[in-house]
Amino acid sequence: MFFVGPMRQHLDGHKSLSEHVQVKTVDTPSTVYIPLFTGGKDAIPCVNVGDHVYVGTKLGQKEVPFIVPVFSSVSGTVKAIEKHPHVGLKPVDHVVIENDGKYEEKAPLAPLSMDASDEALLERMKEAGIIGCGGAGFPAYVKYSAKGITDLIINAVECEPYLTADYNMLETTMDDFVAGVSLMYRLSHAQVAHVCIKESHPEMIEKLTKAFANVNGVEVHPVPDVYPMGWERVLIREVKHVEYNKLPAEVGCIVSNATTAIAFANAVLRGMPITQKMITVSGDAIDTPCNVIARVGTPFKDVIDTAGHIIGDEVMMCAGGPMMGRTQVSDQVCVVPETNGITLLKPRHDVEVACLRCGRCSDHCPSGLQPVRINTARKANDIDTLMKLEPMRCIECGLCTYVCPSKIAVTEGIRAAKRIVMLRGKK
Ligand code: SF4
Ligand code: SF4
Repeated sequence: MFFVGPMRQHLDGHKSLSEHVQVKTVDTPSTVYIPLFTGGKDAIPCVNVGDHVYVGTKLGQKEVPFIVPVFSSVSGTVKAIEKHPHVGLKPVDHVVIENDGKYEEKAPLAPLSMDASDEALLERMKEAGIIGCGGAGFPAYVKYSAKGITDLIINAVECEPYLTADYNMLETTMDDFVAGVSLMYRLSHAQVAHVCIKESHPEMIEKLTKAFANVNGVEVHPVPDVYPMGWERVLIREVKHVEYNKLPAEVGCIVSNATTAIAFANAVLRGMPITQKMITVSGDAIDTPCNVIARVGTPFKDVIDTAGHIIGDEVMMCAGGPMMGRTQVSDQVCVVPETNGITLLKPRHDVEVACLRCGRCSDHCPSGLQPVRINTARKANDIDTLMKLEPMRCIECGLCTYVCPSKIAVTEGIRAAKRIVMLRGKK
């Protein structure tokens, strides 16, 4: 018999802070900064300083390892191409655009019909720069190029605490969601599409069931309210009861975020790329948590100021949720197509004590790792053991830190171990 731990945890989601609160719209500032950077790589600009651009004008394109174009979210004039703070933490080149306030749109692509061919749909995914909107930012066309797919899994789980942007997108753009899922289902050639939503949302389950009632092959699939249920490995385990090695396609699955389906519908039916995002601004350090709509390239400061007021002088800010989000040191970083939340938290001054060897971090790791052993090997500089413990499989879900009774920043240690392994791989 093989015993495993729970590998997941019910967390207090704090979703009610923003879930049913009126959505606000950010007044886009006079200057926006669109990063020429996506999926960890630089994009090559295709505009020059002085050029006039429209909402939807292509500004540049990343070529390797996969093609991802970058688009303007406003109309106006390109003022500069220069380094600016980025959510990835390192400053990168941004196209700086003086916003003329007119928001003149020029769709870069012609609309397609719902019965467009597979080739046309796949090309549209690529040309419109449709990426995983759940935070991963992986180009969707690469996933949908896979053959032998049996199950399409649409991830509407949104398991990160505080975040409710996906839920609000479903509330406000259900028609596009149904169109996007239907198109993705046809393109994937899957036998069935599972729309996964937490079982703690009975009202949304009912709405989705009604919305997909006449769409053959699409099933609404309630899943447990645990973290990290929204991670694709956990979701596939839940829906299909199988494990894969590197990619979901190995077991015939594609997993796409619900908001990626909405973005795809917009790209197909209107020819428009992702130029604005629904973003949850929440946490215990903002007085009025809510969802806001902001254009790509808007500095976080403007997004936060639209939502409410920061409480206190010392605040921890994450791009994304508190578990998998990335801590930011500047509110000048800007909204990117992957942005789904800004979490503002009062700092916790936990006192770390010695490891109790309780094994809770290993029991809960959804990647099946042994975080405590990885950290011990890292501290001892025992590289051979470290390599065997495979820290690169860590998805940085933060659960090992969350469950640690000694208040050890276990996830930070695993991140450091990953850097060591990456450097070793480059030698
Ligand atoms: S952060 Fe990494 S090591 Fe820690 S529980 Fe999550 S996947 Fe496992
Ligand atoms: S959960 Fe914390 S105390 Fe327990 S083994 Fe892991 S690091 Fe040590």
